[in-house]
Amino acid sequence: NLSKRLMTVANYIPKDTKVLADIGSDHAYLPCYVCLKHEHVNAIAGEVNGGPFESAQQQVNQIGLKGQIDVRLGDGLDILKEGEADTIVIAGMGGSLITSILDNGRSKLSNVKRLILQPNIDAQSVRSFAKNYNFKIVEEEILDEEGYIYEIVVLEPDNQSTQYTPKELYLGPILLLKKPDAFYRKWENVLHKKEKIIEQMKQSTNVSSEKLEEFVQQVKWIKEEIN
Ligand code: SAM
Repeated sequence: NLSKRLMTVANYIPKDTKVLADIGSDHAYLPCYVCLKHEHVNAIAGEVNGGPFESAQQQVNQIGLKGQIDVRLGDGLDILKEGEADTIVIAGMGGSLITSILDNGRSKLSNVKRLILQPNIDAQSVRSFAKNYNFKIVEEEILDEEGYIYEIVVLEPDNQSTQYTPKELYLGPILLLKKPDAFYRKWENVLHKKEKIIEQMKQSTNVSSEKLEEFVQQVKWIKEEIN
């Protein structure tokens, strides 16, 4: 049984995926779920840490999916051969870690048709990756599970160099069109926090005016969208 968060991620895996890579797979719940459901999908579960790597191996052995899921120990996309995966999932990490994994492994993205990314924080950096590396944001989702709010950003190679405004990178171009309930909940929260921080910054003497301006700009964007 997958969490609502991972189930939502799984729903974005294309039906015609041949090789799915799940990077930072931990227990390998996601590839196990997908491979049980779709016999034609092969998966690679990547883990950089020994403990999670062993849990992934155990889980895969236990449900008899050894032939379908290859569990590999290594950093980010290093564990992939060039062009090996056509769908890559990176979920449950900070946005900047996801971005650095993709950036360090960009030579492995040549055959990728879809990247499904679920940053726990800082989705903006994942969207900036799209902008800088010729990917297009094709789907976005925001969801609420046990008091936490998660965002999912789905990217596909883009040959049209789609442009995004800084505001779209911050709030999500597709979320801005859909504005689900969780979008309001997230940004109301962030708004309160940022306004407090701005007050504190104004009282402090050693704050960079750039940082202050950035926060003021972000608060303006949020207010434009949730009020
Ligand atoms: N993807 C699963 C999920 O969404 O439920 C597990 C998320 S877990 C919080 C993050 C996992 O990423 C950890 O098991 C950690 O060991 C792994 N990880 C962190 N950095 C990594 C890297 N550079 N390469 C591969 N795995 C990494």
